[in-house]
Amino acid sequence: MVAWRPGSCIVRQGGAGDRPPGLRGQKRGRRSRVSGVAPQPTEGSGAPNRTRMHPRAPGSILEPGKQEISNIPRIRQEGASLLVDRFNRSVDYVRLSVTDRCDFRCVYCMAEKMTFLPREQVLSLEELYRAARTFVSLGVRRIRLTGGEPLVRRDLVELAGWIAALDGLEELNITTNGARLATLAEPLRRAGVSRLNISLDSLDEERFRRVTRTGKLHNVLEGIEAARQAGFRVKLNTVVMRGYNDDEIPALVDFALQRGLDLSFIEEMPLGEIDDHSREAAYMSSEAVRERIRQHHELISSADSTPGPSRYWRIPGHDSRLGFISPHSHNFCHLCNRVRLTVEGRLLLCLGNEHSADLKPLLREHPGDDGPLRDAIIRAMDLKPAGHDFNLAPGEQLVRFMNMTGG
Ligand code: SAM
Ligand code: SF4
Repeated sequence: MVAWRPGSCIVRQGGAGDRPPGLRGQKRGRRSRVSGVAPQPTEGSGAPNRTRMHPRAPGSILEPGKQEISNIPRIRQEGASLLVDRFNRSVDYVRLSVTDRCDFRCVYCMAEKMTFLPREQVLSLEELYRAARTFVSLGVRRIRLTGGEPLVRRDLVELAGWIAALDGLEELNITTNGARLATLAEPLRRAGVSRLNISLDSLDEERFRRVTRTGKLHNVLEGIEAARQAGFRVKLNTVVMRGYNDDEIPALVDFALQRGLDLSFIEEMPLGEIDDHSREAAYMSSEAVRERIRQHHELISSADSTPGPSRYWRIPGHDSRLGFISPHSHNFCHLCNRVRLTVEGRLLLCLGNEHSADLKPLLREHPGDDGPLRDAIIRAMDLKPAGHDFNLAPGEQLVRFMNMTGG
């Protein structure tokens, strides 16, 4: 087997059907025309992953009572993304999940005992690269590598280097639990990664272990330091759970301020049935988090924005931005500019819905031609729903865990 590199012409052992990915210099994909005509969606890769029937059937094209929306002309700005949905939201941001595996088992993200995907269902590095390259050719400007834990994927640094070098891509970012950054921060920086988001839910070793089940806080703190030393702009992510870590909100803010890091507080989302705690009981709104912070610091609402859903506040005299990701208390769907590709090649059009298109067959059946993949991605924009309808009540949650989703 010859190692594959982007741009290299490789010969793989095997018969005529075992063709090289042909990732460069291949025929350009046909330009697809997006019309108001309902496309044939490529099927989601599995049965609808919901415990209850969703009022909008997964994969449905039109929403009840909103049929007329599919006939609204798409408005494309000059030089902007070719990916525009039925609500005229332009998609220029992709979250690419590179693995569903993880060395942690965070209580809000996973069950304690998880079954991960069989290897053959997982996209190869070459397939992930092809997908990234095709998205960029369609106007995507930012890609975030995520998972699962992206840094447990072998050869992640190499993949990051290939993607970062794509013409037209403005930013390649990674979301990580930070546990492996002590050794990987510097290589990732050299590979061209722009920014890192690092999850940090507690500054107490015992409690950190309670929340992550297997994580060691000191590894993550070393990872954060290594990321700073490597020159990354770091943002911390904290999922706030009442009764778990809400009493640490001021300490986490001070930790970020002292190091000049950004920090986002996230409302827990109902992805995956968990038995560790009641998501309803642990829910804490972003406004309640801000109230806690105001007991210690003045907070000024900021106009800063990033490609993410965070809304930002600042504390006078500090560079750090405090972000709030509030899927329950402040719906940001109308501004949504993103889609997700799971590591099994399922293009998810919405974090909180099952509307999806299965891209894996197109990657595997057309190894030398990105055209069918491009067409399918363009068509899939018609599947993007208006928004999510998260419900924290038991039995109302998506079966798909966050590690499968690409958070
Ligand atoms: N393993 C990496 C990490 O933890 O940063 C990347 C993947 S993780 C799924 C991405 C982000 O999703 C993390 O910041 C994590 O805290 C967040 N997350 C996971 N499950 C969540 C949930 N149910 N609700 C809200 N955020 C969640
Ligand atoms: Fe792993 Fe990230 Fe999920 Fe925690 S949040 S279990 S680190 S994928």
